[in-house]
Amino acid sequence: MISKRAQSIDASGIRRVFDLAAKLKNPVDLSIGQPDFDAFDAVKQRVKQAIDAGKNRYTVTQGIPELRQRIKERYLANCPEAGGRTEVFVTAGVSGGLLLSYLSLLDPGDEILIPDPYFVIYHDLALLLGIVPRCYDTYPDFRPRAERIEEALTPRSKVILVNSPSNPTGYACAQEELNQIVELARRNNLVLIYDEIYESFCYDKPHARCFGQYEQTVILNGFSKSAGVPGWRMGYVVAPEEVVSQMLKIQQYTIVCAHSASQWAMLDAMDIDFSQVLAEYRGKRDFICDALAERYELETPGGAFYLFPKAPGGSGQRFVERCIENNLLAVPGNVFSKRDTHFRLSFSAPMATLERGVEILNRLAS
Ligand code: PMP
Repeated sequence: MISKRAQSIDASGIRRVFDLAAKLKNPVDLSIGQPDFDAFDAVKQRVKQAIDAGKNRYTVTQGIPELRQRIKERYLANCPEAGGRTEVFVTAGVSGGLLLSYLSLLDPGDEILIPDPYFVIYHDLALLLGIVPRCYDTYPDFRPRAERIEEALTPRSKVILVNSPSNPTGYACAQEELNQIVELARRNNLVLIYDEIYESFCYDKPHARCFGQYEQTVILNGFSKSAGVPGWRMGYVVAPEEVVSQMLKIQQYTIVCAHSASQWAMLDAMDIDFSQVLAEYRGKRDFICDALAERYELETPGGAFYLFPKAPGGSGQRFVERCIENNLLAVPGNVFSKRDTHFRLSFSAPMATLERGVEILNRLAS
């Protein structure tokens, strides 16, 4: 009964962790992949108003013009000369943007170059669609290097995907590193997909940008993390018109449009002052890194809200099972990687949880 396509992906690794976790009463949860703050008040008010004002019907497939215009202006403010052929397309989260990008740009058998470690959707969505996910290695410091991407290229390579700041490693690219990858894409006539969903969470240096540098670039971004609304499914694509027109056909026949009232609320999300949240998250990053530095081998993350330390004992899977036996939830690195040497911690949690977490982690590593 089941398609080969569905059978081509396997979520058993992460399910096993969830099954173990479900048995815990009051776990110290450092496995969370979303902000620990609620939606900003301005967007909560605006979504209620939008519903009351009857914004409950389908919107146009590409998203409401008001929001697309605001997003476009934000991008063009940094790079006005890119204006002509750029389009903005509103998607059901960045996950929706990934699906539309893969379907618009890649045929079965084509290759997409993705980082290892990777955000799981990059890898398994490719398998589901018969696209070949070819990994470029970023260990041990998680920096995406143009040389390594170049080594991984084959004649079937069509797209390079870069994610900064990164899930699961927290690595935030330097501008120069990203520029080198843009140049590599240009030299090889490849499409560059840049997932910058964590752009608001950059702790040490400005976020590296590539909008406007190279024509064949598809930027994915969204509001799940920056406005505290992961459940509202609000993402967008900034890409050349010829790509967006393909996405339009595909979204029209699948998802139809992104959530209507939330699109109106995102007009207010564009004006959010994020500085206080950023300072808080920087504080959490500093706390957890300092607390674990002595007993764990880790790279200090420059962005997002993840840490990707080496697992004591060598196996991420086995170490996370030990964590769970000790009431702590984390995610084994092999969920995000061909290797099983690391594990992911999220510091998107209240300070009290982080304090309990580091106490358990330091006990397990001593
Ligand atoms: N990209 C990355 C790197 C992510 O970590 C996530 C969420 N965990 C997404 C995309 C998808 O986000 P959403 O669909 O909520 O916009």
